[in-house]
Amino acid sequence: MKVAFIGTGTMGGPMAANLVKKGFAVVAYDIVPAALAAAARAGAEQAGSAAEAAKQAEVVVTMLPSSSHVEQAYLGPAGVLEGVMRGRLCVDMSTIEPVVSRRVAERLHQRGVRFIDAPVSGGVPRAEDGTLAIMVGGEAKDVEEARPVLAAMGANIFHVGPVGSGEVAKLCNNLIAGVAAVAVSEAFRIAEGFGVDPKVLTDVIAKSSGNTWLMENMHPVPGIVARASSTRDYAPGFMTDLMAKDLGLAVNAARTLRVPVVVAPAAQQVLRLASSHGLGRKDFTSVYQFLKPSDGNAPV
Ligand code: NAD
Repeated sequence: MKVAFIGTGTMGGPMAANLVKKGFAVVAYDIVPAALAAAARAGAEQAGSAAEAAKQAEVVVTMLPSSSHVEQAYLGPAGVLEGVMRGRLCVDMSTIEPVVSRRVAERLHQRGVRFIDAPVSGGVPRAEDGTLAIMVGGEAKDVEEARPVLAAMGANIFHVGPVGSGEVAKLCNNLIAGVAAVAVSEAFRIAEGFGVDPKVLTDVIAKSSGNTWLMENMHPVPGIVARASSTRDYAPGFMTDLMAKDLGLAVNAARTLRVPVVVAPAAQQVLRLASSHGLGRKDFTSVYQFLKPSDGNAPV
């Protein structure tokens, strides 16, 4: 089976490489030549546009930064819609607004093309290992058709509901992870101020009601979890800017639904501030670095 892979960046690069390793023919396109060249080194053919890649493939996969990039890559000039044949299946694995997934799905549907959303969780290590969690929204028969392609990139594949539902699951998950990064960072800054050993505190919390997956796997304090980005000077991992974007998706969704949200917008703004202070392209757990105490002489 031939797969068009559009967006071969931080995540898409290793995901496309896994498709090649598992025996799929891959034709890749990225607007950044270096990202496309990396995909070619991993064994993909190169296309000159999203339309050209989509024209040749039975399944089109996209892995792009945000909603506007997805709209552009599908519906813009030389986009997927210009090349893809009737009856084909498109799988968008980017994290974007559920309403945009539905809008793109509708536009493709009008031209006889099928679309499912399949955002992922797990970051670069699991993209490389082919063990991502994948949350899928779409018609059951389309999800089944995509399953062999998804299984080459992920270990846990969940069919959540109709188109857009994968994105809903993803933004709910990242709301919790983003808030947890800020909460864990605040707690450990307080402990540090009192001179409590962060390793001891981690052991305590791991067996107490404040335990979180984020602390155990992506500890914001350097030197506690060997595989955490914090221990590699916050090399991403998952960039602060992308997590701020995802919290924004959750806040927008809540606004549309008139659901009150309090901690998600607070965490989003902390991450935005961290970004504007130079941490945007670091891992989002670098928010711990940003939450430094003020000078000891500052009035309380
Ligand atoms: P990235 O910016 O590294 O990669 C995106 C790629 O898309 C880039 O190479 C860019 O040049 C390309 N691109 C943009 N517009 C394009 C277009 N019109 N046509 C073709 N290519 C285009 O981002 P990433 O970290 O790979 O993230 C991709 C998506 O996955 C995001 O939505 C992100 O939120 C999500 N995600 C990322 C992680 C992570 O750990 N990095 C984890 C889970 C989910």
